[in-house]
Order: sequence, then C-alpha cells, then structure tokens
Amino acid sequence: MYESYSGYRLATRIIVFFLVFLLIGIIFKQISLSLLLGSLLLLMWNYRQLTRLNYWLWLDKRLTPPQGNGSWEGIFNGIYRLQGKNRRRVGQLASLLARFRQGAEALPDAAIVLDSQHNIQWCNKLAQLNLGLVWPQDNGQRIDNLIRHPDFSTYLKKSDFQDPLELISPVSEQRLLEIRLMAYGNRQLLLVARDITRIRLLEGMRREFVANVSHELKTPLTVLQGYLEMMQETIPENDMNQQALKLMNQQSKRMKSMVEQLLALSRIEDAADVDLQNTVDMSHMMSMLEEEANALAQGQYQFEFSCEAGINPHGNETQLFSACINLVSNAIRYSDPDSKIQVRWALVSSGAEFSVTDNGLGIATQHIVRLTERFYRVDDARSRKTGGSGLGLAIVKHALSHHHSELSITSEVGKGSRFSFIIPMHLIELPASQHKV
Ligand code: ADP
Repeated sequence: MYESYSGYRLATRIIVFFLVFLLIGIIFKQISLSLLLGSLLLLMWNYRQLTRLNYWLWLDKRLTPPQGNGSWEGIFNGIYRLQGKNRRRVGQLASLLARFRQGAEALPDAAIVLDSQHNIQWCNKLAQLNLGLVWPQDNGQRIDNLIRHPDFSTYLKKSDFQDPLELISPVSEQRLLEIRLMAYGNRQLLLVARDITRIRLLEGMRREFVANVSHELKTPLTVLQGYLEMMQETIPENDMNQQALKLMNQQSKRMKSMVEQLLALSRIEDAADVDLQNTVDMSHMMSMLEEEANALAQGQYQFEFSCEAGINPHGNETQLFSACINLVSNAIRYSDPDSKIQVRWALVSSGAEFSVTDNGLGIATQHIVRLTERFYRVDDARSRKTGGSGLGLAIVKHALSHHHSELSITSEVGKGSRFSFIIPMHLIELPASQHKV
C-alpha cells in the first residue's frame, strides 16, 4: 500500500529537519551558516528526486514508480494512481468502442462516421462493399472525393437531411442505394446507405402488373358495355330485365372508370422525369377546367373561377390538369347541389397556389392524413354512389410530387373543405412586369 500525500506530515518533517540544523548552529555558534547548509542539502535532495521522477516518466519502462522518500513519495504514488485510473478508463473506452463497432458491423446497412469536414472517421464492411471504400486506407479522406456524384455533393452541403437521397452505387450500376445522413455529437455525421434495389424492382413489377391488368381489362369492359347499351335499347322499357340491365350498365361504367384511373395513376407514377422546361398556359387550363366542371355539375352548382393572368407553371400539362380536375370533381361530388365552389389560381409568397374551396360535407381530422392513399374513402357508400374510384387523390399526390409540390387539405365536418397546392417559385413564370419575390 502506497503512502498518500499529507500536508501535516510534510510540515512536521521540514520543521524537524531545520530544528536539527538550528541545534547544530547553536552548538557551533554558526546559526546562519548551519541553516544555509541545511537549505542547500534540502535543495539538492529535492533536485535528485525531481531527476528520478523525470527519468521514470520519460525513459523508464517500468509501470511502478521509483521508491520515493518523504514528500516525494506522495507525488510518485499520486502520479502512479492517476496513470492506473487513466489506463482503466482507456480500457473501458476501448471495449465500448469495440462493442459499438461490432454492433455497427451487424447492421444490415452501410455505415460511415464523418467529422464536421466530411472526412471519414470509420466505416463498416458493407460501406466497403456498397460504396467502394477501402478501410483503413480511406481513413481521413473526404467522402465526396470518394463518392463522386453531383447529387451526393449537393446533398452533403444541405443542412436539412430529412429526405433521403437515392443514388446508384459507385460499385455497380445495377445497385440502387438510399442514403441518409444524421447529425450527432460535435457536428459529426453518420451516413447510412441502404440497398433498395430489390424494393424498387418489386415496386416496378407491381406497377407494371397493375398497368398490364388494367390495360387488358379495358377491351372486354368496352365490349361488355357496348352490348349492354345495345340490349337496353332493344328491350322494351317495361321489361323486368330492363332494371337489371341498367344496374349492369352502371356497374360496368364504374369498373371502366376505375380501370381508367388505375391506368392514369400508373402512367403518372412511371413518368418520374417530368420535363420541367415546358410552360403550361394556366388561363387556358382554367377555362378547360371550368368547361369540364360545368359538364359535371349539369348546372346544379355555383362556380367561382378566378385566375391571376400571366402566372404560368413549368411542368406537364396533362398531369397538372389531371390533379386539378380531380380536386374540382371531388368538390362537386362531395357537396350538395346548389352549393358554392371556388376555384382559384393566384400568386402567393412561395409560388403560385391552386385551390378548390367547397361548402360540402367536410372531412373529420383523423381521415385527412390518409386521403391520398389508394382506395381510401371516408364514406364508402357516398363515394360509390358518386362514381368514385378511391384513386383520385392518389393521382393528385403523384402528379404534384413531380412538380415539387404537395397537396394541402383543411376541412371541417359539415362546413366544407379546401384542397390546395403551391407550385414553388422556381417553377413559375411571371409576367414581365412582375419580379420574382
Ligand atoms: P374517390 O374517388 O372516392 O372520391 P379520392 O381519392 O378522390 O377518391 O378521395 C378520397 C376520399 O376523400 C373520398 O372518398 C372522400 O371521402 C374524400 N374527399 C375527397 N374530396 C373531398 C371533398 N372535397 N369533400 C369531402 N370529402 C372529400
């Protein structure tokens, strides 16, 4: 057991040491000389201990400190204890790090730890496999020097990493990765890359399947509908089969519209790369919408169309029209005849807004977040009665996502709803007299 530091013991030793020299001085009547000699001896002794400490700290390979005397014993032992504590702490940290690395190696995704300058600090084996990193050779390298892709560099520069980035693997063009960045600690980043090739492949197969089935169903349905109409015309009005034929005709029409909506949805989903250079003439589109709305409403609704002139979005006219007409037709179908429906296209601070406001049924809050899901309906019976397919808002959502926009819904049950979307300013062409905000 090492002796610890004691101020009291140290003071006593110094007093006793100088008392001895004082006594010798008194005996030989040379007090000052004796005390000076004592001080010199003490200084030399301290200097010797200092040299031993220095040798132990810098040159000696032993872990245990040299045997110290007097006050130096406490210092030697104190340093030894401190070293022991540090060694234990380093050991604990090393085992923690080893466990963390084992855990990160077990992840099904590629993981890379980056510092604030985007230099690689560590990566797991999947990062080497999927992103082509070489460990430990790439330690300290900037990640954007190794993953050379303009989209990746732009993503890295962003401060908001909410949305993931989809990137073709630098190792194989067949592999698609979903990259996410998470900030943590002292401005460090964790990059996680997931292989989504299989998911995208399955999604593509599902889309293709739906599109093929819808396409194949279209012809038999048209034939069926044609014959039903023909039979309806040839059978007398009072025939008891007339009612059955009417119902069959109605249902086949519903089925046909559903197939058409399914085809429209898969066409919009497939057209991921919308040419955003085309300018859509919004005044023309609003008049087409008004015409179609009047045809659907058959004079039973009061419309108020307003369009700010000269404000035109860039994008795909068919897709935008499809989004807008779905919103207008929903407003008609979910409002009672004679109610008012407002359709507007106007400039707002972040872009240009298209909105449809009705005084219809309204929607309870818990349904609003799910409305854009395929086949989600608040009231099945009403939707069926009005010829709804449950796909309208899914079409709107996809069409808008290709135009960097999303659907926003506010509604109150019994009072009405407002469906709107904003096309961002960078996709808006303004009249020459107006500057972009
Ligand atoms: P549907 O073909 O059934 O109308 P949509 O995808 O267009 O399918 O709409 C989904 C559901 O959202 C509808 O079934 C309806 O319940 C609700 N909805 C859509 N628009 C309105 C509206 N303007 N007012 C009230 N409910 C609406």
